[in-house]
Amino acid sequence: MIVDLHCHSIYSDGELKPSELLDIALANQVEILALTDHDTLDGFEELNQLASAYRIQIVPGIECSVTWQKMELHILAYNVDPASKRLKLFLQQQFQRRWARALLISDALRKLGFSNNLQKVIEIAGHYGLSRTHFAKYLVQNQYVPDSKVAFKKYLGSHGKAFIPPIWATLEETIAVIREAGGQAVIAHPLHYSLSTAQLKGLFKAFKSLGGSGIEVISGIMNLKDMQRLIKLTNSFDLKLSSGSDFHKPQIFRASLGQQTPLPEQYNGIWLDWSFQSC
Ligand code: AMP
Ligand code: MN
Ligand code: MN
Ligand code: MN
Repeated sequence: MIVDLHCHSIYSDGELKPSELLDIALANQVEILALTDHDTLDGFEELNQLASAYRIQIVPGIECSVTWQKMELHILAYNVDPASKRLKLFLQQQFQRRWARALLISDALRKLGFSNNLQKVIEIAGHYGLSRTHFAKYLVQNQYVPDSKVAFKKYLGSHGKAFIPPIWATLEETIAVIREAGGQAVIAHPLHYSLSTAQLKGLFKAFKSLGGSGIEVISGIMNLKDMQRLIKLTNSFDLKLSSGSDFHKPQIFRASLGQQTPLPEQYNGIWLDWSFQSC
């Protein structure tokens, strides 16, 4: 079964509209697709409506930014009820945090000589839920840097000159909100946080004890060693296995929708627990 439980649209920092994501997902024979935009559910209804004519299930998802032990983590939410009042309030608060951070990043860039950057970044994003990806695009499009990698290294990444340490929701609150909205919480791309095995174990333990459900053991193109290490660790904490491409736009060396490294067949993915209403 081909699934993809992590991708982005123009409603956060992806480059494609829901209709374009759907076209690619159908061409790639994806059967379950979770749209997991950063801190927003704004694209879900549109995608779900469009998909209702096809044999594909759309999962309401979010990639929540979280601060845990002074680090930034990304927590995926699956199958949340978009009508949940507590979830709506939580997403509003995350939006405010994102906007406050965007103003600080913009200010830092202005002091470095990039005047009037905010309006241009908003135009690039097409909305106000600004991500560092949009600032990177602004720097690349205006030829201040050759590519987004350099934009992060020089300005936006944790060692960059315009880095603003973010303050997001806590892990505890995020998991509680997801659960109250009827959803499941999953740690996104656990190898992106530069943690030792001991630290990863500490994170998984805390996550599990707070009510977390699973770990994204497959994120995009994986090597066998990393995948086996994560599967073993996830199983040892009795957490579920998840898999997604983290697709933002078509790119030659990155996985397209549903084309992340497959989870070996002997393992059960978190999606096997889900029941969908037939169309
Ligand atoms: P934000 O949530 O606003 O902090 O932005 C984080 C997003 O920036 C991630 O979801 C990635 O899409 C992107 N990103 C993070 N690090 C890099 C990098 N080194 N190069 C390019 N894009 C990155
Ligand atoms: Mn992103
Ligand atoms: Mn992420
Ligand atoms: Mn992502």
